[in-house]
Amino acid sequence: MNQPWRIVGQGLAGTCLGLEFLTRGIPFRIVDSGKGGSTRVAAGLINPLTGKNFHPSWLIEDFHPYAVEYFEKLGERFGVKFWHAMPVMRLAETEKEWEKISSKLETPEVSRWLDSERDAQTPDGFVGHLILRGGGWLDTRRFLDVTRAYFHEQGVLDIGDEKLGIADPSRILCEGARGLMQDQLGSHRCAKGEILTVRAQWSEEFIKIGSGGWLIPIGQGLFRVGSTYEWNQLDEVPTDAGLARINEIAKKLGGGDFQVVEHVAGIRPILRRSQPLIGKSAAGNWMFNGLGSKGSLYAPKMAAMLADWMIDGVVANADFVFQSSNEIPS
Ligand SMILES: Cc1cc2nc3c(=O)[nH]c(=O)nc-3n(C[C@H](O)[C@H](O)[C@H](O)COP(=O)(O)OP(=O)(O)OC[C@H]3O[C@@H](n4cnc5c(N)ncnc54)[C@H](O)[C@@H]3O)c2cc1C
Repeated sequence: MNQPWRIVGQGLAGTCLGLEFLTRGIPFRIVDSGKGGSTRVAAGLINPLTGKNFHPSWLIEDFHPYAVEYFEKLGERFGVKFWHAMPVMRLAETEKEWEKISSKLETPEVSRWLDSERDAQTPDGFVGHLILRGGGWLDTRRFLDVTRAYFHEQGVLDIGDEKLGIADPSRILCEGARGLMQDQLGSHRCAKGEILTVRAQWSEEFIKIGSGGWLIPIGQGLFRVGSTYEWNQLDEVPTDAGLARINEIAKKLGGGDFQVVEHVAGIRPILRRSQPLIGKSAAGNWMFNGLGSKGSLYAPKMAAMLADWMIDGVVANADFVFQSSNEIPS
């Protein structure tokens, strides 16, 4: 490559890749529309055992330690706390849900995340709870703002919309949902989500997960609560229905009174297997997308893998990659 690489999009994907290039001394520019994106809205939660099925996240043993160390070290470097480690209280609302969770506790991939030394009372309205280690949240807005200022300082940042008419092999598309919704990688499952920030006098000891949602104490009496999933109306507009649903979650997980201070919406960039992808499209652009609902967990190591591939020719693992439109995963 004679000309510098051009990263399109400064969300989690483009930022981690840009930082990787800076560390390796690879010439590049990064362009962002400045119109926001999923990272600016996200809660940044990392929860090792997710969903109704209480499953470990995909390849968590590799990606979790990498991501936590990455954000901690980056925070030290910039003198800013990006990563907030915090125990997770996983709550079950029904006996059936509690049985399902309990049936998995002996399996090694689940038991390694249980914190049996810490305990608490099961809150009213729930039949059981567990405390998990390894959880926490990434301050995604701060991460974007600080790194944006750093890219600016390094003289590599452009603000504006990149016109993508002609394929360009020096371009790496990190456009998030905006790219996927143009079917760049075939069919997608992008999902709109809404989040509230609320002020309340609740305990700030645990991230709480249950009732189909989560509640994250972010300090100074503020909590983020979410979230909704909506596949048909893919826009970034907060709705009354979203507000009502998250108010319900907040009441169940938080308890008493609260005051809404912010209501935001964004679109999660999700591909069909809900796994991130890196590679080169048939059109000739490199791509990094599909971070789904777990960008904080997957972005740092995926960025390093993509840089290894682009610069050193090392393709890490066939699960993550495509090389042409013929190989777009279904
Ligand atoms: C409601 C909600 C809650 C979430 N909660 C969590 C969570 O708790 N934990 C977690 O890990 N993840 C969460 N996520 C997911 C997380 O936000 C994503 O996985 C991640 O931020 C995606 O990063 P990205 O860089 O791929 O996309 P984005 O952050 O969307 O970044 C893409 C950027 O590219 C820019 N862009 C696009 N096209 C162009 C162009 N042509 N020219 C210039 N710029 C362009 C956009 O403006 C944007 O800035 C959540 C998402 C939502 C919506």
